[in-house]
Amino acid sequence: MIISYNLGNSLYINLTNRCSNSCDFCLRASKGQPEIDSNKWETSDDLSGTSELWLDYEPEVSEIIQDLSKRDLKSYDEIVFCGFGEPFMRFHDCIEVAKWLREQQVKKIRVNTNGQANLIFETDVTPLLAGLFDVVSISLNNKNATEYDATCHSEFGEKAFDSLLDFGEKCAKLGIKTVFSVVDILPEEDIKVCRKLAVDRGCELRVREYIE
Ligand code: SF4
Repeated sequence: MIISYNLGNSLYINLTNRCSNSCDFCLRASKGQPEIDSNKWETSDDLSGTSELWLDYEPEVSEIIQDLSKRDLKSYDEIVFCGFGEPFMRFHDCIEVAKWLREQQVKKIRVNTNGQANLIFETDVTPLLAGLFDVVSISLNNKNATEYDATCHSEFGEKAFDSLLDFGEKCAKLGIKTVFSVVDILPEEDIKVCRKLAVDRGCELRVREYIE
């Protein structure tokens, strides 16, 4: 079972298969390729097939730390909480692992999230990220709640969209670099709207390359 893996000079942590979304483009259902950055997969860590990332069970924090302890953590440009599902389904475990990573003096910690943690935990959890996470990357995907819901099918319905925008704004206000992302198959007009949504909340927009 793969808990952490290399991608470029980053180390990715895989915590869970679960997610509050059920995106049309997510291959979790088929246990295929997880949501990743636009980087290319590397096989330098014996990661020969992405389906290997499906977790048979959710590792305890101690097991995650044990796995990470085998790595030269300071050699990575960044450590990324990502994985097959939504890392913040295990928000408090992410915080524990991030605290431990800070003690190891890693260069940078990022999370790739759907931005729904405040809905999942029914409270504002963003203050817990301050001082631990350098970058919060949130999948925006679409320009409004209706389109987001039609694509991402959050268990929270259309309110997920406003909540993830608010989540990003709160992170930015805490001084965390916060980046919303969309893929480049969106029409240029939609990307413009998405950029405004991000900038108005003190965040950036990243337009990722679509990988079929
Ligand atoms: S938010 Fe990411 S992990 Fe969750 S269903 Fe969508 S693509 Fe998959």
